[in-house]
Amino acid sequence: MTSTTVTPAAPAVPRQPAPGINTGRVADLIGQLLVELGEDPRREGLTETPKRVAAWWSDFLAPASAPAVTSFTESHLAGQLVVVGGMSVWSLCEHHMIPMNLQVTAGYLAEGEVVGLSKFGRVARHFAGRLQVQERYTREIAEHLAGVIGREDVAVAVRGLHLCMSMRGVRMEEARTTTVHAGGRFVTDPVLSQQFLTVAAGQRRVC
Ligand SMILES: [Zn+2]
Repeated sequence: MTSTTVTPAAPAVPRQPAPGINTGRVADLIGQLLVELGEDPRREGLTETPKRVAAWWSDFLAPASAPAVTSFTESHLAGQLVVVGGMSVWSLCEHHMIPMNLQVTAGYLAEGEVVGLSKFGRVARHFAGRLQVQERYTREIAEHLAGVIGREDVAVAVRGLHLCMSMRGVRMEEARTTTVHAGGRFVTDPVLSQQFLTVAAGQRRVC
């Protein structure tokens, strides 16, 4: 089962970076949750669990500021399609607080300069480090990259494995969700759009 959502480019929506969390308070709350779930947080195996979970939350929410993206001048380049794929990140579905694996492919048109390739992975990780929905995640990456290159000629495709669909609810382990956010010439030029989608499909690994 696969669903595909194609969203047109939309104005950037400013989001606040995640504030630092009080890990001691979170650990207390996790301990209370264990009690409410019928567990004894003092038993062997659980004594350090609240601290570990709190530390994980702190780490998960750590990327508070968007990474700086480096561009390099390549004056001979005009309209070259650049696609970076194979980026796999974990995030948390905000509806169930259950993990989702997101495979990201991002493309843009290089016009006189290129974006440092490793930065794509940093951007993909940055926007995954918060409670998310795949549709918004896809748009946030596209809008961030459009801001970096100063044009709307960006397309982002994300293929998501949502454990909230696999391990609860309808329990469909094979379900995958595909989202595409395209802007600029990726919307107006159907050949370019098709090129991107073909390359993106080829770069996805099976999961
Ligand atoms: Zn969910």
